[in-house]
Amino acid sequence: MKAQPKASHFVDGAYVEDTTGAEIEVIHPATGEVIARLHEATPAIIDRALASARRAQADWARVKPVERARILRRAADILRERNHELSVLETLDTGKPLQETLVADAASGADSLEYFAGLAPTVTGETVPLGRDFVYTIREPLGVCVGIGAWNYPIQIACWKAAPALSLGNAMVFKPSETTPLSALKLAEILHEAGLPAGLYNVVQGRGAVGAALVSDPRVDKVSLTGSVPTGRKVYALAAEGVRHVTMELGGKSPLIVFDDADVESAIGGAMLGNFYSSGQICSNGTRVFVQKGIKDRFLQRLKERTERITLGDPLNEATQMGPLVSAAQLDKVLAYVDRARAEGARLVTGGARTGANDGYFIQPTVFADVTDDMTLAREEVFGPVMAVLDFDTEDEVIARANATEFGLAAGVFTTDLTRAHRVVAELEAGTCWINAYNLTPVEAPFGGVKMSGVGRENSRAAVEHYTQVKSVYVGLGPVDAPY
Ligand code: NAD
Repeated sequence: MKAQPKASHFVDGAYVEDTTGAEIEVIHPATGEVIARLHEATPAIIDRALASARRAQADWARVKPVERARILRRAADILRERNHELSVLETLDTGKPLQETLVADAASGADSLEYFAGLAPTVTGETVPLGRDFVYTIREPLGVCVGIGAWNYPIQIACWKAAPALSLGNAMVFKPSETTPLSALKLAEILHEAGLPAGLYNVVQGRGAVGAALVSDPRVDKVSLTGSVPTGRKVYALAAEGVRHVTMELGGKSPLIVFDDADVESAIGGAMLGNFYSSGQICSNGTRVFVQKGIKDRFLQRLKERTERITLGDPLNEATQMGPLVSAAQLDKVLAYVDRARAEGARLVTGGARTGANDGYFIQPTVFADVTDDMTLAREEVFGPVMAVLDFDTEDEVIARANATEFGLAAGVFTTDLTRAHRVVAELEAGTCWINAYNLTPVEAPFGGVKMSGVGRENSRAAVEHYTQVKSVYVGLGPVDAPY
């Protein structure tokens, strides 16, 4: 199995290589096999990417929005036509099962390109009447945007940043995660095939230092990061030195609250989707499942049955429901959290062990019950298929406990009491909430976090605010009345 790209980077409309950059091995997580070898961007590559973005952006900002949109819509069509090939690549790179990547990755990326192609031409300024004089506003692009991605949804993250940035007249230099560097290169290829002028979308590879070099370059106007809270802190601080715009999509430890009156099968389905999809490697996962005591036993019994039926295996087999974790490091980290949960007194309901043949990074889908708020499992982001079930008695109690975290990415409520659902959601400190659903993130809805989980919003009309700025123009129509 090989997935070697033509070269490591895509700069100024073409693949480029510089073998003096440190090597990055790309590993298929289901087998441990090396599927590609890339090189980190050297200062020369970073410079070329930023210089070409700067140059190209000046012209791109003057292109009519509908013309920019036409190119992105074409790219969306190409992504859909090549969905199978792109999904296989994403599965090789991330280990996520084809069953998921066929519907969730390039497909949602295409939605994003299509959505912003439609939205961007509708973005206008306003006129502010002031009696005789008036002010009008212009929504202008920010300039050169740097995108930095995590490894869980590589092409989706690349598209979620590229679509609003490009459609609104910006250029982008994107650095994928060093763990999953492949599909962003394909996106660059596709955008250019669709007619995007050279220099507007560049992909440079590298670890954190390459990201930091991009973030601190004076040619950069905006930084959009998807990553963990510790990285977010560093990147936000670096960006602040240059007073650059930021979007921070960071981690979470989101509550999913199940009241006694919930449809239990749906709530279990929501909890499983919110803990096991993509082997639990999703930022918005509802990893603290609060279950009201009246349904606790029934909930746990059915959850155990359904969890034990999940099919793990070769992610390239479309019947496989769960693949491995993304890397050996992630597997070690998740297994350590499992050991710690046991040691701290959580009750293992099912799973908890490494599994699978070969050298793949597989772990069983895992459920812990009787988890308490002070346990590590209830406080830290695990980023693996490990569900923590906590009990609660009352609505007020669960709201207070749900909010007692530094994170605030997402939250979910399962109940058949409509009034309670809205009342509880209004109290939850989270940027994205679901009622009787979990982890659905359509491009039409704003997505992002509060507290340590982030700054800004991706997707929807809200993203326009984060890829444009307002110029205010005062127009004087009379003589200037100066006091001197
Ligand atoms: P990470 O923070 O380790 O890395 C994210 C990216 O930042 C990588 O590309 C990495 O190379 C880069 N980076 C690291 N140090 C840097 C530095 N000093 N300067 C600039 N860039 C730097 O995250 P990860 O392990 O790749 O991804 C998992 C994390 O991402 C989880 O915490 C998850 O919750 C979060 N995540 C958030 C969202 C969201 O939308 N909120 C989505 C997916 C993942």
